[in-house]
Amino acid sequence: MDALLLKQYLHLEMVRMDEPEIGPDDVLVRVRACGICGSDVHGLDGSTGRRIPPLVMGHEAAGEVVRTGANAGDLQPGERVTFDSTIYCGRCFYCTRGEVNLCDNRQVLGVSPGEYRRHGAFAEYVAVPRRIVYRLPASLTYEQAALIEAVSVAVHAVNLTPRSLADSAVVVGTGMIGLLAVQALRVGGCTRIFAVDPEASRLRLALDSGATEAFNPKDCDVPEAVRKATGGYGAAVALECVGATDPIRTAIASVRKGGAVTLVGNVAPNVDLPLQAIVTRQIRLQGSCASCGEYPACMELMASGAIQVAPLISAVAPLAEGPQWFARLRNREPGLMKVILRP
Ligand SMILES: [Zn+2]
Ligand SMILES: [Zn+2]
Repeated sequence: MDALLLKQYLHLEMVRMDEPEIGPDDVLVRVRACGICGSDVHGLDGSTGRRIPPLVMGHEAAGEVVRTGANAGDLQPGERVTFDSTIYCGRCFYCTRGEVNLCDNRQVLGVSPGEYRRHGAFAEYVAVPRRIVYRLPASLTYEQAALIEAVSVAVHAVNLTPRSLADSAVVVGTGMIGLLAVQALRVGGCTRIFAVDPEASRLRLALDSGATEAFNPKDCDVPEAVRKATGGYGAAVALECVGATDPIRTAIASVRKGGAVTLVGNVAPNVDLPLQAIVTRQIRLQGSCASCGEYPACMELMASGAIQVAPLISAVAPLAEGPQWFARLRNREPGLMKVILRP
């Protein structure tokens, strides 16, 4: 089969590879669409340590069933499916508690952090365990379905955020996940949503996605602006979708006393936290990792139009054009959001 292989750091190449083999619990999927994730772009140069070559990346995908192992026969060849990016074992302490995103034996598709190497979906075929596969509703295209993984990350984070109808929310960082978080907060009953990002084009997209106000930290003191817009108090909740000291401090300073900050971004391994402000203002910090069973809800939200991903798809291109699209994303070309490759 054709595959886009990370041969060495910063070097992607189309190669011929053997079709993946499937075990009794697996499904072989012919990939029809696979999105390029920010984590793939960051992983390209080795800085994250999670894409050790040689590796076929790609974990945001959809396609059709080619064949199944003996224990996965409820799926028929030709059925349209998508799958989770997290491969969980189904047997450990956390899996048996239903916390599959926290599985002790968790692997991520298209990732190789050293302990394992799981080839992903930038290829004609990918093998995945049946338990992470979901049938696609007819109303979702493969391209839309390739964004379910990102939607599920945003929906999981919003589900973990304590809030009430008509609460106000701040979203710091309006890249892909932040923009989807804006939509999910809206569906989740937040009436005022403040988007925060240093890039004007992203703030425009955030306003189009349902944010009610947009603040650029280059132009204003964001916590001050949020307080001014909320009667002097600050927002009820904040979602942080960058993962670095400054944006996390912005999120913490933008919520009111007793507010909650959900941390989704995950770039810096360590950050500087304003401890006394968190304690004396009784702020709740909540980490959010991947998603945990939200796929069916996400498909429903997307099929009903409550969450719209089409405006976030910047380009759909053949897999062979992968290297140049990765380069454009790595150069942070303004306005470029999700790029989807089709094997
Ligand atoms: Zn991803
Ligand atoms: Zn497990």
